[in-house]
Amino acid sequence: MSTVPPCRFSIAASDAPVELLPVDISPYRQGNCAVDYVHRLDSGVAGPELVITALIHGNEICGANALIHILEQGIRPVRGALTLIFANVKAYQQFDPQRPFASRCIDEDMNRLWLDQRLQQPDTQESHRALELLPYIRSADSLLDLHSTTHPVAPMLIYPDRGRNPGFADRLEYPFPHLIYDLDSYHTGLMISEHERHTRSGVSLVAECGQHFARATTQQAISSALRFIYLHGMLSPQVELPDWGYAADSHAGHYRIDRVLQAATDQFRFAEQVQGFELYNKGDLIATDDQQLIAAPFDNCALIMPARVPIAGEEVVTLAQRTDKQPE
Ligand SMILES: [Zn+2]
Repeated sequence: MSTVPPCRFSIAASDAPVELLPVDISPYRQGNCAVDYVHRLDSGVAGPELVITALIHGNEICGANALIHILEQGIRPVRGALTLIFANVKAYQQFDPQRPFASRCIDEDMNRLWLDQRLQQPDTQESHRALELLPYIRSADSLLDLHSTTHPVAPMLIYPDRGRNPGFADRLEYPFPHLIYDLDSYHTGLMISEHERHTRSGVSLVAECGQHFARATTQQAISSALRFIYLHGMLSPQVELPDWGYAADSHAGHYRIDRVLQAATDQFRFAEQVQGFELYNKGDLIATDDQQLIAAPFDNCALIMPARVPIAGEEVVTLAQRTDKQPE
């Protein structure tokens, strides 16, 4: 019997305009690897193994657009190798503009299952696909995983507080929030955590590139991908680094992820309308869950990626502590 929680989602339409639609990616099915939708661009010169992944969540279109841009513009590493992976293609291909959140996954969230015990017994579309992709993830020196968000909030970078990640992230000169987590205390089963447990010399990053269906996410994803390649010394000097997709954000800074709240009931409600990055002081009411009051557990408590529609037993918001000094 499967113990996998079903992939639950709201069937409601998007609050934000749907400016981006999936494209036909079937021309990229046949890459040059044994696995479909995987392309390895090898410079033939010694250097790092980079992997960039898109579509871990099927409705996060910008990542696929960034990979297509790299492939179609003939961007090739000048040393080392760059592997481009379209992950949950089956979910992406089910996109329905009337239900744009529904194609996040087929059976389960593909960014919660990167755990040995789960992958030893694949029993969902996503776990089978993850098993196919696992050798590429484990053997990469550095991994960039491209995502987008439900709410129209600032782009953000997420990474484990370990090894080279913080220094590399700072060198990106990324004018948006950084979310930093301890490898063993955030979601288990994140793909970048699996990578981080295996890499010796590289970095493991998620780039959230803006709201799922906003046109600017594509440029944000392309810019993030090219800067990732550039900082590894692998981008040809002929390739210009494009601007970010968004203007620098007032929430830019460093946030330490503390915990992920789950809704106990479908009655979970935030105390006010939130989009993300609202700051609360210790003791401030942030939400109610049926009769229960939920207060901010510490000062400078930021709400990160609040759910659109709370569902009992599902993640509803991440709490993080802003660690930069606040402007007076
Ligand atoms: Zn995502």
